[in-house]
Amino acid sequence: MTTLRTLFWHRRDLRMADNLGLANAVTKTAAITGIYVLDPAIITPPYQLPPIAPARLWFLIESLIELRHNWHKAGSRLLIVEGDPVEVLPRFARKMNAETVVWNREVEPYARKRDRQVKRQLEADGRRVLAEWDQQLIAPAQIKTGSGNPYHVYGPFLRNWRTQVHANTPCSVKAPSELIDLDSEQQVSLPSSDLLEPLRSSHGFGAVDSCPCRPGEKAAFEQLQIFCDQQIRSYEPDRNIPSVKGTSTLSAALSIGTISPRQAWRAANEARKQARDQKSQKAISVWEQELAWREFYQQALFHFPELALGPFRSKWRQFPWENNDSWFKAWREGMTGIPIIDAAMRQLNQSGWMHNRCRMIVASFLVKDLICDWRWGERAFMELEVDGDLAANNGGWQWSASSGMDSKPLRIFNPATQATKFDPTANYIRLWLPELRHISTQDLLSGNIGALERRGYPEPIVDHKYQQAHFKALYATINN
Ligand SMILES: Cc1cc2nc3c(=O)[nH]c(=O)nc-3n(C[C@H](O)[C@H](O)[C@H](O)COP(=O)(O)OP(=O)(O)OC[C@H]3O[C@@H](n4cnc5c(N)ncnc54)[C@H](O)[C@@H]3O)c2cc1C
Repeated sequence: MTTLRTLFWHRRDLRMADNLGLANAVTKTAAITGIYVLDPAIITPPYQLPPIAPARLWFLIESLIELRHNWHKAGSRLLIVEGDPVEVLPRFARKMNAETVVWNREVEPYARKRDRQVKRQLEADGRRVLAEWDQQLIAPAQIKTGSGNPYHVYGPFLRNWRTQVHANTPCSVKAPSELIDLDSEQQVSLPSSDLLEPLRSSHGFGAVDSCPCRPGEKAAFEQLQIFCDQQIRSYEPDRNIPSVKGTSTLSAALSIGTISPRQAWRAANEARKQARDQKSQKAISVWEQELAWREFYQQALFHFPELALGPFRSKWRQFPWENNDSWFKAWREGMTGIPIIDAAMRQLNQSGWMHNRCRMIVASFLVKDLICDWRWGERAFMELEVDGDLAANNGGWQWSASSGMDSKPLRIFNPATQATKFDPTANYIRLWLPELRHISTQDLLSGNIGALERRGYPEPIVDHKYQQAHFKALYATINN
């Protein structure tokens, strides 16, 4: 007689500690097996979105290798299986006679559709399905306006979110131990080949050392501790200066779930207790607001899945994008001749990550100066980012394009003004554009570099003033 067990399906929650779905499963039985499905639709996603970025694939594989080890240490195992979850989950549940299958819920339209199909199959086989909200401090369905509608303005969302988080201060949930592994009869039919090792040597990401995001649950927790012991107290104003390591660089960990938002929030709260001065208290609150931005975009995608396909403000569907291929290529490769843009795009290309201030500058430039459809930029980011996340990336791009949930109707960044304000020493520009190290700070910030001094660095592909006027004229055609 084989033991009835629970199958726990990991998706974007690649950790054992503070995992609400897993913790819930453990309250019912210790006979739990983990499973992760390498879904071709995640490696090559739908909605004409690009394949997973090499940096993200690296982060995923390394995190899975550690997670598999942690399952083993806890007494059980994590199976890594390739295929369509709609077929894989019922098959494995059957193989191991799983009475219950548990997972944590997701907000992305593809994942929600997939989960409904998996659930239907499992229930048709007589199995129980339990799904938890785990990736947010406040579940998307639990946060609504006074009239019961989803939010599309961040300010009121933040007020409600804060009230709810403080009212239900999340307590910590330990990683399970003493789990019961499959018995020898059940182990016989399991796949024997290791899918992770071949992927480890073929993900194509060569810049492992320059990526500031570290894979795995252990590294994410250490990164959080270091940030909350040190930088968090000067997060404001350091968070806006890309040459300073002033942010947590936890975005990949939060989006793939090697750390939970509750762990992040609790660590910030601890830092608040230690902080003596008002400046530090304020900085900690500003960091918590960033966690709220993450959840704002998640609830937006949950309630408005059409965001994944196009603009939130419908008038933008008519915008006459010019989509110049060679300009787009120059932007993507960091060869526009505008130093702050090129430095930022080189950071992304070379390290898999880009500072938030720079993401806003390059996104505004692509849309408002190069008059290129923001979805081209959204796609390029997903092809390159270690933290590529549909909700945050789409939210960031739509905000920058003014087609999304920004309360301001139109916002245009001037690259030279942004560089002067946020990279006043030009240290960030010099770091990522070493060929321009000999240029004066003033010229790097303004972008006015003499022909003889360029030494192969391109002339600016556009003039900001001219393009801004042109963009505004085009915008007037959709704004009547
Ligand atoms: C055009 C554009 C595209 C973006 N694409 C992504 C993306 O694919 N994935 C992603 O995680 N973030 C994205 N962001 C948001 C933001 O740039 C990154 O989350 C941030 O730079 C990550 O650095 P950090 O971890 O040091 O953040 P911190 O400043 O330490 O903030 C802590 C956490 O809060 C969250 N966060 C911070 N700012 C934002 C924000 N504006 N929107 C949503 N969540 C936020 C992240 O999870 C981050 O790790 C994008 C922003 C823009 C403007």
